[in-house]
Amino acid sequence: MRAHITLFPWDVLDERADAVLDRLQGEVGATGVTLWAACPEVMLWRAREVEPRMVRFEGGLLFAPSMERFDATRVKPVVSTRWRSHDAPAAMTERCAARGLTLRLMISASRIGRLAEKYPETATKNALDDASQRSVCLNHPDVREFLRGSVLDISRRYPSAGLVVTDFTSSWSDAVDDRWLASVPLDDTDRFLLSICFCESCRQGAMKAELDPAGVHRCVNVLLSRRCAGKSGPAWSIQGLLEEHAPLRAYVGWQSNELGILWRGLAESHGGEFVRDRPLRRPLAMQSAAPSGTVVSTIVESLEELPEAISDTGLGGELRFASELTTRADAADLVRATSMAVERGVVGVTFDTWSLWSNEALDSVRQAIRYARRVRA
Ligand SMILES: [Zn+2]
Repeated sequence: MRAHITLFPWDVLDERADAVLDRLQGEVGATGVTLWAACPEVMLWRAREVEPRMVRFEGGLLFAPSMERFDATRVKPVVSTRWRSHDAPAAMTERCAARGLTLRLMISASRIGRLAEKYPETATKNALDDASQRSVCLNHPDVREFLRGSVLDISRRYPSAGLVVTDFTSSWSDAVDDRWLASVPLDDTDRFLLSICFCESCRQGAMKAELDPAGVHRCVNVLLSRRCAGKSGPAWSIQGLLEEHAPLRAYVGWQSNELGILWRGLAESHGGEFVRDRPLRRPLAMQSAAPSGTVVSTIVESLEELPEAISDTGLGGELRFASELTTRADAADLVRATSMAVERGVVGVTFDTWSLWSNEALDSVRQAIRYARRVRA
């Protein structure tokens, strides 16, 4: 079983990098590490005895890109001010190769920190016409070109590393954040409706494809108003709404198809191991099927989601246990979860996030990996 641990660059700077890797490989039993190379805004309270204990990070690229790869797009890389001087991916490439660890670099496709704020014209927009400050739309031509440039740059710069692309969606992803208040307790269907993007690029593209984005926009507004009035009705499910409203189905189907086209291009230009990281309960209709050659990795946030995540990711797929899970589950639960995944054909598990682990959590992950290997044998 592949066993990856996710790290932020500061995790290997604030502790001695070799000491971190010694522990991950020797004690925990990891076969590889997944290092963030372009990440969303994040705030961490770290369990490990390192300074600073609290990290507040505005997000951005964690390496210095070759700017000429972005000549064809107005969206330029937003490099992190904090980590610019240190090429963490390069340092990790060398160290991992020397130890026989697999290195993967992880980038967020739509939620790189500060991008939506700096380029508001590329932000996703929901049916209530709210433009996101966190997510850019992958249907915007400049964003697509930016992403192509980023993938190409990373592939050429760090050729031996695999690439994990997360947040690969053209949706108003604030719908899945829990930081805001809504007039109804949000369920999956509400989040789905709110997540559908109606930015200018999506509208224009859909019209070119002879769809009716204005009509779909009205339809989603009516559905959301009904919901606020407490009249959503018994067929209130993503599947139910898609069956009932053909133009809505066509619109999200088109968005999903556009993502598929972009993905295939990215996978080809990368050439190496290419991992599609996707959440289970996030805007499902906007996730196109992954083409062959892509490793599918489904994010699991709670133990309840596990059975569905395993069947969703399929034989030969992987799981990523989100930090909510790795930090909250006790050792017995984590062992059961990991072993069950391997029994059912999952070939790799990524455990989030190293610096949040206490020694107890570290031990849970160690046991989970060890027992899962026995299942395989
Ligand atoms: Zn859009």
